[in-house]
Amino acid sequence: MLIAGNWKMNGGVALLDELAAIAAKAADTPQVDVAIFPPFTLIAPAVAQAGTVIIGGQDCHQVAAGAYTGSTSASMLVDAGATQVLCGHSERRAGFGETNQMVRAKAETALAAGLHVVICVGENRADRDNRRAGHVVGAQLDGSVPPSGTAETMVVAYEPAWAIGSGRTPTAAEISGMHDLIRAKLIQILGEDGACVRILYGGSVSPANAAEILGIPDVDGALVGGASLTAADFVPIITAAANVSQ
Ligand code: PEP
Repeated sequence: MLIAGNWKMNGGVALLDELAAIAAKAADTPQVDVAIFPPFTLIAPAVAQAGTVIIGGQDCHQVAAGAYTGSTSASMLVDAGATQVLCGHSERRAGFGETNQMVRAKAETALAAGLHVVICVGENRADRDNRRAGHVVGAQLDGSVPPSGTAETMVVAYEPAWAIGSGRTPTAAEISGMHDLIRAKLIQILGEDGACVRILYGGSVSPANAAEILGIPDVDGALVGGASLTAADFVPIITAAANVSQ
């Protein structure tokens, strides 16, 4: 199981107190991998006190270096001590115009720099209502998954955009159905290795629903936004993952 927290554009150094409490829990729960994706400004200080918690970036540029004001390269993340990066989060796809092609390019650049990647996919509300969710997610995987990714270096996060930050989640049957589809598509793209790539669910995961969601077959962990900002909310999610892993 992997429980990953995406802090988005939240937090200053004071938020590292929460990381300290999360790191203490992670040290006590070796059967669960725990990751935090803080804003760029907090990566280096987070790494310094992360213990066993994996620290990653929330994005990187698809080009290795150059005149891209305001951007952060994959090798800069490595330099700051990050070991993973999110690629194609729905807020990047919707708010920054990231296409599948760009997401794949970012992932390839990140892998070449030595980072592990979390490829995010997920339909919007209209896609789900129009019964196009499977088609959309399949196309995102076809377009965004880097062929050089492996079960060791890549994770896929299924995050329906309409569930992010909304307090709404798909039913267990909907999550299960989509994870089955993602698994089949990963095997199609990557061959045997696709059977072992971890698939996370993300979208309004909370202490209240974590046990049910993490208990769904082929849910290998969670990508958590709002509930990762405090140890009080995030630690019970790690506990739920530990219980499922037993
Ligand atoms: C996310 O940002 O990836 C996310 C899942 O957010 P939330 O848990 O707040 O819905």
